[in-house]
Amino acid sequence: MVSMSKTIGVLDLQGAVSEHIRALETLGVQAVAVRKSEDFDNLDGLIIPGGESTAIGRLIREQKLEERLRSFYSSGKAIFGTCAGLILCSTDESHETDDLRLGFIDMEVERNGFGRQVASFETSLDFKGILQPVEAVFIRAPYIQSVGANAKILASYDDKIVAAEQGNVLVTAHHPELTEDYAVLNYFLNKVS
Ligand code: GLN
Repeated sequence: MVSMSKTIGVLDLQGAVSEHIRALETLGVQAVAVRKSEDFDNLDGLIIPGGESTAIGRLIREQKLEERLRSFYSSGKAIFGTCAGLILCSTDESHETDDLRLGFIDMEVERNGFGRQVASFETSLDFKGILQPVEAVFIRAPYIQSVGANAKILASYDDKIVAAEQGNVLVTAHHPELTEDYAVLNYFLNKVS
């Protein structure tokens, strides 16, 4: 059972922010939109939502939030990157732009990995640590090409890795806030101490 006293921030720069806040509130969790450095101060965990990773990364730099994100990560607080948020959490050393990559999980990602044409799809996903298959919505989703030794693979679809965790950080290529299957959000909330 999820504790009512947890406060989870949703990075509110671009993307599926209100959807995450609504889903968290449905689960009885206090959800806060995070726009400034001080907004991180009283959080127990943080969600980096889906959207456009290039735009979110640019805004993180413009709003001077990169250092605060890194200190939040270093403090051991739980972080959940979904879709574009997954891309931002990657190391992705092979990418050729200077788009922000936070390197919170050792993994290489393929942006728009399922193809731009097949923009969105829904499937049920076997997810390690969750008994029932998870209802998963993918929207121009990335996949994870490879993970380092410290990362644990949690789900794959079509032979492509779509969820992983490493220490305090969880990432999924799908949008767990867009269906009424909140199993993955609950999985994240269980990581929040
Ligand atoms: N394709 C987007 C990107 O590269 C991610 C899509 C999403 O977050 N739904 O940032």
